[in-house]
Amino acid sequence: MLCRFTENTKKAKNKLMWQRPPLKGSYDAVIIGGGLHGLATAYFLARNQGMNHVAVIEKRYIGFGGSGRNTAIVRANQRTKENLPLYAEGLELWPKLTDELDFNLMFFNCGNLNLAHSEAALGSMRLLVASAQFHGIKSELVDAKQCKEIVPILDISDLPTYPIMGGMYHPPGGTVRHDAVVWGLARGAARLGVHIHQGTEVTGINVQNGKVTSVETDKGKIHTPRVLNAAGGYSTLVSAMIGIRLPVHVLTIQAMVTEPLKPILHHVVSSGAYHCYANQTLKGEIATGAHMDPWPNYTTQVSARYIKHQAEALTDLMPCLKGVKFMRSWAGLADMTPDMAPIIDGNNPIQGYFMDCGWGYFGFKSGAVTGKYLAEFMASDQCPDILAPFTLRRYENHKLMGEIANPVNYGPWN
Ligand SMILES: Cc1cc2nc3c(=O)[nH]c(=O)nc-3n(C[C@H](O)[C@H](O)[C@H](O)COP(=O)(O)OP(=O)(O)OC[C@H]3O[C@@H](n4cnc5c(N)ncnc54)[C@H](O)[C@@H]3O)c2cc1C
Repeated sequence: MLCRFTENTKKAKNKLMWQRPPLKGSYDAVIIGGGLHGLATAYFLARNQGMNHVAVIEKRYIGFGGSGRNTAIVRANQRTKENLPLYAEGLELWPKLTDELDFNLMFFNCGNLNLAHSEAALGSMRLLVASAQFHGIKSELVDAKQCKEIVPILDISDLPTYPIMGGMYHPPGGTVRHDAVVWGLARGAARLGVHIHQGTEVTGINVQNGKVTSVETDKGKIHTPRVLNAAGGYSTLVSAMIGIRLPVHVLTIQAMVTEPLKPILHHVVSSGAYHCYANQTLKGEIATGAHMDPWPNYTTQVSARYIKHQAEALTDLMPCLKGVKFMRSWAGLADMTPDMAPIIDGNNPIQGYFMDCGWGYFGFKSGAVTGKYLAEFMASDQCPDILAPFTLRRYENHKLMGEIANPVNYGPWN
């Protein structure tokens, strides 16, 4: 009996997606944060750079942060020449990664439709479409009738509070299953030798003569010459461990899903004026979000006021949703920078200290591709051109990026 038990335990262990190795006293690189960005970097360090003596240190469980809480929207219709190439490559990477990881990431390039409810919004969208097209990314302006053809359940009459005047349609965007991405990357990285330590918190980073030497964790010290801060909403706290202040403030962002419905919404729809976006998941739920509490905080509470707002916005835009019940709501942290673009940097000002944070509410879509380039940066100490604009120094030099949140009211539209 005992033997069979031991055998079964062994078999179960072999079936684990990743093993739980003991924490070693040294690694070539330590990645703080088991979110998409940390895991992607670990995976590409091992896969592309041959560096597999790497630890991912996660204080709770992988996907505990924004990576396991987002609404899974991906797109490449940002505004600036710095952001567009990264997001465009990010979109192309999902199917390749699905193959490579042998894990169904459920990439669904259903297209994103952003609605305009004023002439001013249409004007801003014209600029976004032109920028996307300049970079070879499919995006087009559509009128209200075309919006209705794309998403038949939209109300394009005069009845909604903000009537629909047109929109921006971006066919290559869509959704990717967020927890599949986290699990797929974790399994992929672990198979290549990366150690994933969940339930382990980094409490300090030690620096000598301007170089990273080790990190302190609640399970012991780890010697390492390279540390990556991929701590999402907690990245300012990690950065403070070595005295670097980041221009990041942390806001709570909420989301929710309805009960499952038959397929009725085949695209991602968003509206700045309504402060709302929605898509239908493969399970049939309408996943929706956009609200951010306007005051900095670290809670992950949802609010009744927001649920009411979301119900009103959704049913104004898509009246057939009246009577549909919300089933679940949740919240996560968004690490916001002043220019709606992330901070990706290394060896600045401390050698061996790398940062990948400030992703706000838009860091899911670009996580895998950023990990690919960041791995190159960490292995070679040379910043790839595509990441160079995201340096922390841009704030010191007053060279903020001209990215915007939303063409109408600067609310999130993911
Ligand atoms: C409700 C919501 C909806 C969103 N929707 C979208 C969307 O549709 N599209 C999109 O592109 N983006 C979206 N986002 C944003 C996106 O989820 C984040 O930008 C992205 O997940 C950030 O990933 P990350 O790996 O940098 O950080 P995270 O996933 O937050 O991971 C950071 C990890 O670091 C760990 N950690 C922190 N401190 C320590 C420490 N001291 N020691 C060890 N571990 C530590 C945390 O526990 C956490 O697991 C959304 C976010 C939320 C909350």
